Amino acid sequence: MGCMRSRLLVLAAVALLSMPRGSVSPKPRIGVLDYRFVVTLSESSDTIAVDAYVTFERSPGGPDTLSLDLIGMTVDSVGYTNAMWTNYVPYSDTARAKVKRFAPVRSSYDGRVLRIPLGKPSTASPSVRQNYAQVAISYHGVPQDGLIEGTNAHGHRVVFADNWPERARFWLATVDRPGDKARVSFVVHAPRSWKVVSNGVQPFLEQPHEPGRWWWSTHEPIPTYTMVIGAGEFTVSQHRPVINGRDTIPLEVWTYPEDSAFADSVPFRRATEIVEVMQRLIAPFPYEKLAHVQSSTKFGGMENSSAIFYAEKPYVDRTMGEGVVRHETAHQWFGDAVTERDWPHLWLSEGFATYFDGVIGAALDGDSVLVNSMRANAAAYFKSDVTDRPIVDSGYAADPIKLLNANSYPKGAWVLHMLRGTIGDSAFFRGLRTYYTTYRDSTATSEDFQRVIEKEARTNLGWFFHQWLYQPGYPQLDVTWQYDAGARKVVLGITQRQKPEWGLFRLPALTLEFRVANGATVRRDVAVSGDNRETSVRVDLPFAPAEVRVDPDGKLLLRVTAIGRR
Ligand SMILES: [Zn+2]
Repeated sequence: MGCMRSRLLVLAAVALLSMPRGSVSPKPRIGVLDYRFVVTLSESSDTIAVDAYVTFERSPGGPDTLSLDLIGMTVDSVGYTNAMWTNYVPYSDTARAKVKRFAPVRSSYDGRVLRIPLGKPSTASPSVRQNYAQVAISYHGVPQDGLIEGTNAHGHRVVFADNWPERARFWLATVDRPGDKARVSFVVHAPRSWKVVSNGVQPFLEQPHEPGRWWWSTHEPIPTYTMVIGAGEFTVSQHRPVINGRDTIPLEVWTYPEDSAFADSVPFRRATEIVEVMQRLIAPFPYEKLAHVQSSTKFGGMENSSAIFYAEKPYVDRTMGEGVVRHETAHQWFGDAVTERDWPHLWLSEGFATYFDGVIGAALDGDSVLVNSMRANAAAYFKSDVTDRPIVDSGYAADPIKLLNANSYPKGAWVLHMLRGTIGDSAFFRGLRTYYTTYRDSTATSEDFQRVIEKEARTNLGWFFHQWLYQPGYPQLDVTWQYDAGARKVVLGITQRQKPEWGLFRLPALTLEFRVANGATVRRDVAVSGDNRETSVRVDLPFAPAEVRVDPDGKLLLRVTAIGRR
């Protein structure tokens, strides 16, 4: 999601909603492979009707019930289908009619979870081939959340999904957890004057699209929190596509007609270049197209896979800049293609997107963009109320909204920046590329990331990840110094003054800058072991310094609380 500032404004509103809680659980032994949703929207009513086709894989000895999250809908029917999961497309009414459903499955639904008994794989129905099966569920109702229906800033009716973190279940029957990615197709029936955008591409059709009927489909599995549709009146502009060998990735900007010229010329002016920077640094764009969509998301921006939604107000106010576009675009690699396996590892998504906002900015406009962005990240973290908590924070696992905080975002970005400083650019980017290709279209934890980085850097970084991901806080240093003219050395005392609960920090390369009498500066790196609260170091220096500065380039997330001559 986009900048935290815009997000904080909505937290209060979100907190009022009945957030599903406690749904974090181990990886199930029923894995959904593919969702196909046929959604009927109305111009005059908020009631939606959905046919959901869920194809899943059962592992031997797995549960005998498929449990789908679905809140507040009326379930009309549940049955197995006779469709092969590989080739069945519920696009047209004819195709849907051909899908025979077997005698209704005796499912149970308590308004929150739909439980579908599965029987034995070999006898349940002819559709159960090997360990795959498909169920079809018809339901209808007015979504209490997740699918937001209403009027946009210009007074026109629009419908937008807004699923993060576990709000897909208010309108989509899903295993609604970040660790359970699946492919998704949407067939959407909408008023004829509307356009509908979603994840993936519009598949090849033997007959052209019928007016008012839209079909989008992904080839890659994506998290349920990014499975979205957006529907309303849009102007769609095509920006220069990204060309990767034989692949052409269309780059589209979907905007309310009133805001289209602004969007194309200001925030999305360099939308293609932003993707190209990420491709140079990491890997080819992970999806078939990229649409940047103006929407009524609660968040400043929401990184839905291949269909990013942005809050409408900054368009209307003409205040929207490029930073949120860089952030959300970076998420397509980190967060969408490689997804945090569970919420406590959210920094793998938000810390990366926050860092790459600055990294892409630096690639386009010079290094000072990253320097300024890291300075702002440090300031945001220092003044936050989460410095007593670690980044990987299982205390908030059941309430992921609380993880939209300064640990996941700016401190997460700092972890990457300091890791880069510790192992060097080459090992850092090689490590990120290996991490990305290893976990693409899958999920990862912080431990997975650490393992890949340690291998690429050929060094044990347990101390680094432990102190920055699992310890709270940051180093606060008191530095005293005096010059020993006889030995021609500066003698320094460095004391870690942070709260004892934060623990001590190891700083193997703390840069000190000495301004000597003629105004020249000399730099020396010293090591702070982190074994003791106080470190004493002696640094060769031929002249007495007039001033000492700590970490002059701002390479570390630390604060100097006092510095002076002893
Ligand atoms: Zn984000």
